[in-house]
Amino acid sequence: KFASREFKKEDTVVEINGVKIGGGHFALMGGPCSVESEEMILETAKGVKKAGGQILRGGAFKPRTSPYDFQGLGEEGLKYLREAGDKYGLLVVTEVMDSKDIPLVAKYADILQVGARNMQNFSLLKELGQCGKPVLLKRGMSATIREFLMAGEYLIAFGNRDVILCERGIRTFETMTRNTVDINAIALIKEKSHLPIIIDASHGTGRKSLVEPITLAGIMAGADGAMVEVHNNPACALSDGEQSLDVAEFEKFAKKFFKLVELK
Ligand code: PEP
Ligand code: MN
Repeated sequence: KFASREFKKEDTVVEINGVKIGGGHFALMGGPCSVESEEMILETAKGVKKAGGQILRGGAFKPRTSPYDFQGLGEEGLKYLREAGDKYGLLVVTEVMDSKDIPLVAKYADILQVGARNMQNFSLLKELGQCGKPVLLKRGMSATIREFLMAGEYLIAFGNRDVILCERGIRTFETMTRNTVDINAIALIKEKSHLPIIIDASHGTGRKSLVEPITLAGIMAGADGAMVEVHNNPACALSDGEQSLDVAEFEKFAKKFFKLVELK
């Protein structure tokens, strides 16, 4: 299997415009759940950059549980995200929910994200194999480690070698946290696969107070980086405000993140 250590012993390093992820290179991605306006993404991007983040995240096409919730700004959001990334020298990552939107999203983003709800959307994965851009593949909320790796396998088998995995928590019986971050999966995937894997403790825990400790635990388990939701004003966020750090909190967190990464 292409994603396995048996196929390739050395860690895959995904490199995008000088930013490397994997093989001892750690990446920090920060940004809002959703791009809500030009001003908010610019302000948040400024904070992400100041803290040392290399990649700006932000959703333009949002997979919301309720059809009545904010669905994202679509192409307008992609434009603002790109503008903010360019202004502050950050790469941008954003979710593509539908195969039909791949060319549009690829026009603006440096990394295309597959959301947890689409991890086994095999037609989307096949198309993304051919998209010409790196893909960040999030673990499905009830996917086994094997299913997760096989989803990554699809991307490689259909032509894309730049695959970054993301552990974002799985559904368990627990209700006090949004999901349960599977630290086992991070350590085991580093054994079984050469692909880089990052941790998303924002969606993994659903609680801003847990983002720092659980992200750092993920790094200790072997993660090659982290994705963190950051908002310039979390109290007014249109999605995932409870789990978003403000810019000052992100900066404090980032100091610890980079200190830990240096020790590795
Ligand atoms: C996201 O990162 O914006 C997101 C929706 O996360 P997930 O797919 O992991 O739920
Ligand atoms: Mn979110």
